[in-house]
Amino acid sequence: MSLPATILRDLAGIVGSDWVLSAPEDLLCYSYDGTFCEGWPDVAVLPGSVEEVAAVVQLAHREGIPVIARGMGSGLAAASIPFDGGIALTLTRLNRIIEIDPVDMVAVVEAGVITGDLQQAVEAQGLFYPPDPSSLKHCTIGGNIACNAGGPRCLKYGVTRDYVLALQAVLADGRTVRVGARTAKNATGYNLVQLLVGSEGTLGVITEAALRLLPLPRAAQTVLAEFPRLTDACEAVTAVLQAGVRPATLELMDETAIRCVEEYLRLGLPLDVEAILLVECDGDEARVAEEAQSVAALCQEHRASQVRTARSPQDRDDLWRARRAISGSLSRQRPNKLGEDIVVPRHAIPAMVARLKEIGRRYALPIVIFGHAGDGNLHPNILFDRRDPAEWARVQEASAAIFTAAVELGGTLSGEHGVGVLKRDFLPLAVDPVAIEAMRAVKRALDPKGILNPGKVVG
Ligand SMILES: Cc1cc2nc3c(=O)[nH]c(=O)nc-3n(C[C@H](O)[C@H](O)[C@H](O)COP(=O)(O)OP(=O)(O)OC[C@H]3O[C@@H](n4cnc5c(N)ncnc54)[C@H](O)[C@@H]3O)c2cc1C
Repeated sequence: MSLPATILRDLAGIVGSDWVLSAPEDLLCYSYDGTFCEGWPDVAVLPGSVEEVAAVVQLAHREGIPVIARGMGSGLAAASIPFDGGIALTLTRLNRIIEIDPVDMVAVVEAGVITGDLQQAVEAQGLFYPPDPSSLKHCTIGGNIACNAGGPRCLKYGVTRDYVLALQAVLADGRTVRVGARTAKNATGYNLVQLLVGSEGTLGVITEAALRLLPLPRAAQTVLAEFPRLTDACEAVTAVLQAGVRPATLELMDETAIRCVEEYLRLGLPLDVEAILLVECDGDEARVAEEAQSVAALCQEHRASQVRTARSPQDRDDLWRARRAISGSLSRQRPNKLGEDIVVPRHAIPAMVARLKEIGRRYALPIVIFGHAGDGNLHPNILFDRRDPAEWARVQEASAAIFTAAVELGGTLSGEHGVGVLKRDFLPLAVDPVAIEAMRAVKRALDPKGILNPGKVVG
């Protein structure tokens, strides 16, 4: 679908011609996300206010043009890719932190604010916004809300959903709506805030959010434990949580992830172990020291060959470098990677890891395992070369086998990346058919013309 010149003129009339991009070299920048998928919009539009967002959506509604809301395009489910063309409605100019209220402990921000920028701004005032996707320097609050993003700290603090108090959004017909309240509690009617959270741009375009904040933890301590056997690392995860310790993060890297990072950064990581656990405790100083000691002792009891505790902020940063570098290091191994996001009940982590190893062997594909082991959310990454049709066919079969294994073990398809397109066809594996029908009914009610991010989630 290509748009008539009159539509481009109308769009320029709304946002200004500088913010309507239709040259191929510009559109390329709006054709991808964090996956290997690609699809080009007809036009990219960058509104500068909620009124402009509403006017663009009104026009799209009148003309039946798809609108694909977009933050930084870092998503991992192909949810922001305009496979059917249309308008890539990019929210990055709406990037004001409107208010940080230390009394109510609330931040009000526009949707295009970069997550890491918000974190820095609230921390400067002794406050804390916990959701911490590893992409936090290149993703937006709007994108985080639309995907219900998580991150390492979500083990202790919960996911984005747990911090959204109120939203302003533009509906499919261009009306602007405010839902929720800027209060600690709210039992007033249906919870439309939570309906929009995780809706991946299919139910409305989020323009502003009121977010709950916490006091900034006073101290943190990081423990890194090396395990010759992966099963021992998995059992240590369960032991830590059963001992009543609630670390902020409990991250797992398997031997392939360790090797990829070591080849990339030469950090001196051990190449003779099957797993590393990276555990961070935070809170007040005395409690943190006690918890970190318990974690170290439990790792040793579960046959860790080495346990290191960070002694300084620099030490802590060094220990985290390996975990942060995983994604980048995988890209150096093979031309493509498919990063899954399955989540299983914690007790099923060892069984899930065993199934992943077996699937890798069965389809002769390297599968790197890392992720938020503390909440059962693993990111098995399949490394492959999309140019090889036989390999690509095996990747698709392996991916289906991973979803099936997760569901058989009592888990589900996505813990934090969302459904997008990559998991859409597998939804019936994990979601009751009646629930899928209810989701479709919600979509029809809010977007009867189906213009908002068509083909995604239940589309
Ligand atoms: C290296 C790397 C590490 C990552 N680590 C994590 C992690 O630890 N945890 C995690 O949860 N995710 C992670 N991600 C995935 C990704 O960063 C998150 O899903 C993030 O929330 C996407 O934000 P974005 O601004 O880039 O959104 P985009 O990718 O632009 O969009 C994602 C989805 O949100 C919709 N959307 C965007 N903005 C709006 C809006 N204002 N209103 C309505 N819909 C909107 C889009 O239509 C699309 O459906 C990672 C990605 C990469 C590349």
